[in-house]
Amino acid sequence: SLSIGIVGLPNVGKSTLFNALTKNNVLAANYPFATIEPNIGVVGLPDPRLNKLAEIHSSEKIVPAPVSFLDIAGLVRGASKGQGRGNAFLANIRDASAICQVVRAFSDPNVVHVDGKVSPADDIETINTELILADLQTLEKAVPRLEKEAKLKKDRAPLAAAAKAAAELLNTGTTLYAGAEKAGIDVAELRELHLLTTKPFLYVFNVDEEELANEAYLDELRAMVAPAEAIFMDAQVESELIDLPEEEARELLESIGQHEPGLHQLIRVGFRTLGLQTYLTAGPKEARAWTIPIGATAPEAAGVIHSDFQRGFIKAEVVAYDDLVEAGSHAAAKAAGKVRIEGKEYVMQDGDVVEFRFNV
Ligand code: GDP
Repeated sequence: SLSIGIVGLPNVGKSTLFNALTKNNVLAANYPFATIEPNIGVVGLPDPRLNKLAEIHSSEKIVPAPVSFLDIAGLVRGASKGQGRGNAFLANIRDASAICQVVRAFSDPNVVHVDGKVSPADDIETINTELILADLQTLEKAVPRLEKEAKLKKDRAPLAAAAKAAAELLNTGTTLYAGAEKAGIDVAELRELHLLTTKPFLYVFNVDEEELANEAYLDELRAMVAPAEAIFMDAQVESELIDLPEEEARELLESIGQHEPGLHQLIRVGFRTLGLQTYLTAGPKEARAWTIPIGATAPEAAGVIHSDFQRGFIKAEVVAYDDLVEAGSHAAAKAAGKVRIEGKEYVMQDGDVVEFRFNV
């Protein structure tokens, strides 16, 4: 399943953030997800469209698209050389589809920084270095083996070449996510090696609340990680939000110049970073969001509900969310000619409200 692994140096606010994410009352109340294991939390993708859909269709419940977060412990400076719990983090991080680094940018002198000073750029480099070293260890073993294989079997040659080029890139201190494309390395070739730095990265900067409105400072941090996405929040404020009634939470956010919890942004950006989107279904039972890759066709989208739907796909009845809301009901949208019949080739759009027709 799709999951976002949370990494970062000790004392940067990872646990604070993870707890806020997975114990978020606003989410938990509406969203039937919970913490599965101590280090895995599943949260719903915040999507106000579902509330509106449920209203239109008098749906009994709302089921948002799930996003999992993995709390990945033990990735510290020197982990690749056996520091801390050594490479124990590898087992967890391999399962993550994307890596989210929490970076300390808050100043609180009462919270010790492992390296003695708050320096977002240094922290990012430290974590990158550990991930790069882990990949280099994998490649050191793999390259000689793959080169031998390539001599015997031609079809192994592209992988052997890609692995060698990947090692060269990593040796310059660049992750594969940041540099593979520019270096002409096809990361799809490298899939069987399960390299860590091919995963999409995103960054949460844990900043002091008064910095949340300091655009010049945020731009500086943003530039540090571009083209990866950056999200800014005060993890401590986020953790206070989770215990507040909705109205008070909103007031607290507004008092620090924010329109929505940073957690919501994180879930949304994480989702986008994974190249995903949602389509919607609605009826008296539930209003629900389903996860599909951007570019998925109608039968592929049907297959997310049930493989039988994909196999027996006939057609899809599709109405764009905005058109449905404007019309006020499914029947009115139909009368206005806004409900389209789409076939096998149709490429799904985010927010399509769909009913599939299929043979069983
Ligand atoms: P972890 O080791 O990365 O999981 O860090 P924790 O979440 O345990 O946080 C370490 C310490 O920093 C705790 O005492 C937190 O209360 C504190 N902390 C976390 N986030 C913030 C923040 O945004 N501002 C301040 N001032 N303290 C924070």
